[in-house]
Amino acid sequence: MKYLGILFIFLFAFAIFVTFTVIAEGDIENILNTADEQNGLLNPDETDNIQVFKNYIIKENEFAEPENFINSKTSEYFKYSEYSGENTKNIEKQIIISVYDAKTNEIESIDLNEYLCGVVFSEMPSSFEIEALKAQAVAARSFCVYKMLCSTDAIREEHHGADICNDYTHCKDYISYENACEKYSEEYILPLWEKIKNAVWDTENEIITYESEPAITVFHAISGKETESAENVWGNAVPYLVSVPSEEENNKNEIRNYITESIYNADEFKDILISNGFSLRADFSKNESVWVTNIKLNSSGRVDTVDICGKTVTGRRLREIFALRSTDFTLEYKNQAFIFTVIGYGHGVGMSQYGANLMAKEGKNYKEILLWYYTGVEINQAGKFF
Ligand SMILES: [Zn+2]
Repeated sequence: MKYLGILFIFLFAFAIFVTFTVIAEGDIENILNTADEQNGLLNPDETDNIQVFKNYIIKENEFAEPENFINSKTSEYFKYSEYSGENTKNIEKQIIISVYDAKTNEIESIDLNEYLCGVVFSEMPSSFEIEALKAQAVAARSFCVYKMLCSTDAIREEHHGADICNDYTHCKDYISYENACEKYSEEYILPLWEKIKNAVWDTENEIITYESEPAITVFHAISGKETESAENVWGNAVPYLVSVPSEEENNKNEIRNYITESIYNADEFKDILISNGFSLRADFSKNESVWVTNIKLNSSGRVDTVDICGKTVTGRRLREIFALRSTDFTLEYKNQAFIFTVIGYGHGVGMSQYGANLMAKEGKNYKEILLWYYTGVEINQAGKFF
């Protein structure tokens, strides 16, 4: 009976540990705060929420009934005369997205393109090349359309019925023009906003599709030599989110914080691991120099797993625990310290924002950039889906 009790306690503790580990792994979207980037500060970290991603990837085959759009010919921005063929009959629509404000608990309905200005402004430095901003606008629009059409009931419930929320740990960062002006002054914001607006309106209605369905176009800030596959990060293979070469390594001097370092002494290193539930089965009694062994890389060259004190931990989990900017790192013990040397920023899946900017500088246009980073996709008209 006594042993049964001990077994029960052990299983309970193990279940809590496993639950914690699973929740903490994986990530979905990278956030790069425009103004902070220009001031030299990046957001401290991006979201790690494997469930949000899975909810989208493992979706129903049938699209949910779209709820939030209106037919409109009133907006001067909606001139579709340039489109031809079968696309023309459906696209003369203004698309309205409903946004749940996580801070005020309110839902606001906003014209999709207007909303996208606030998203692109928040997600990519406005100092970037116009073609990179246009690629970002199309990627963000596709992401929004995907959320509007392919959300599960669970996700919709989390948004209190809205299509998307402004919590960057869950959906997309967003700031309205008014709030941006309030925060930074209109003088500063106006020219930047104009540039973003051009990127959004020049690509109006364009989204990325795969096999004629809206694609979930995740993106990140900086890759190393190549991007990461969705399968390596979230465990779900997505045909258009596979690893492709990216330009950053050859231009690393142009990218601030391309390489970052995190240094811990042995006590700090151990304490951080233990405070993150690492004590189970890990044996810290040996000399520090042999704590870290067997660093295995995955197919894109990022860290798959590492053995620490006899316990195997994933690169993603270490990234989370030590707030590393990516899983593209080395970990060595030198001069009585554990040193992480990290390349890039973000989960690495989909379009690299800095890579897109480098391609734009080389003269590539936004379509070439998108078709490079999202394998086998098409550029399509969003209006077809509403
Ligand atoms: Zn959300």
